[in-house]
Amino acid sequence: MPASLPSLGSSFFDDIANQSLADIGFAISHALFKGEIPKLALEELTHQAFPFETPVVELEEGRLGILELFHGPSLAFKDVGARYMAALMSYFARNTDKEVNILVATSGDTGGAVAMGFHNVPGIRVSILYPSGRVSDLQEKQLTTLGGNVQAFEVQGSFDDCQALVKQAFVDKELNQHLSLSSANSINIFRLIPQSFYYVSAYGQVRSCGKPVVFSTPSGNFGNLSAGVLAQRMGLPIDHFVAATNLNRVVPTYLQTGSFDPQASVATISNAMDVGNPSNFVRLTHLFGDSFDQLKQNVSGYYFDDEETRAGMKEVFGQFNYVACPHTAIGILGLQRYLNSITKDAVGVALATAHPSKFKPLVEEVIGQSIDVPERLASLASLPKHSTVIPASYSAFKESLLQTAL
Ligand SMILES: *Cc1c(COP(=O)(O)O)cnc(C)c1O
Repeated sequence: MPASLPSLGSSFFDDIANQSLADIGFAISHALFKGEIPKLALEELTHQAFPFETPVVELEEGRLGILELFHGPSLAFKDVGARYMAALMSYFARNTDKEVNILVATSGDTGGAVAMGFHNVPGIRVSILYPSGRVSDLQEKQLTTLGGNVQAFEVQGSFDDCQALVKQAFVDKELNQHLSLSSANSINIFRLIPQSFYYVSAYGQVRSCGKPVVFSTPSGNFGNLSAGVLAQRMGLPIDHFVAATNLNRVVPTYLQTGSFDPQASVATISNAMDVGNPSNFVRLTHLFGDSFDQLKQNVSGYYFDDEETRAGMKEVFGQFNYVACPHTAIGILGLQRYLNSITKDAVGVALATAHPSKFKPLVEEVIGQSIDVPERLASLASLPKHSTVIPASYSAFKESLLQTAL
């Protein structure tokens, strides 16, 4: 966590209605990193990281909006963190002749965002480990078709095997003498900080209605929700948060009972949120001064099973003609439940974490209609896959890594 957070002041928030995500990102980064990175370089790298926007689509005026976070290259919100981190790392690596090697294990979405975020970034090489046969076809294409500085290791094992290989590499003294290794997983604070920018952008887009603003975040590891709280700590006047989950409900349960009880994860149709022991939970509680009462006053938790999720997707489509991915539907359901439970008039913003076409077969089955796949995803289907197949053995991984990286 940053040792201290800048206070942005109310005049900052008066001024954001027409600013781009990149402008907002630059202003906040400047307040955070004053002196560490020259202003011009910082401006350039934030604009490089965010060539897209995060628009709020209003479903009900002054009542319910959807913050679309899927307009980046991999069509999920993880692009925001991955691209910002890539831009910063390449800045700090600019004067070293030793390449930085990013190692990342993925069960699906993270790998695509990281691969695309770091693709062609000078001074950086990316090795992505994924479990063979256990990611969707399009997810695999996102990892294996880029080439260049991105190498995909197709591991004959599970996601846990991939993660174990990465962890072992980080503590391998010999390997670390040869390679400069770094991680890009979601506990890295540089993936979290930029996610606060879109809460600010969304606030700027809805503030003219003059009502208190509530955000609902579909959550797994709770990085995304923690980033919202980070924005609140920097002064963004967020009235309340909704933590919406699937059956992996340790945080909603905690909010109800006060006892945090990690579980083995349960498989659901909103699989990017199948997390039984959220790695950002400690950050979330820390941001509320480790006070359960503070957390409870600011965050309400709701969870939904697969049947409710499907019904939610169907209803959102029927009522608003809006197609939501299963994760997004859970955010909307949580928001509606919270808004119906309070007496004051508030505007709710639900975060849309992925484009529905990333879950095309499921979405089409639920809404009973075919949906379009954006060109940048569709075009991947015909590209050839390049992966290095390895057994789930550390010596095989190390040998292969050294061979390609040196
Ligand atoms: C990663 C992911 C989530 C969960 O985000 P956290 O920051 O881990 O809580 C939700 N939806 C989608 C589509 C994701 O890829």
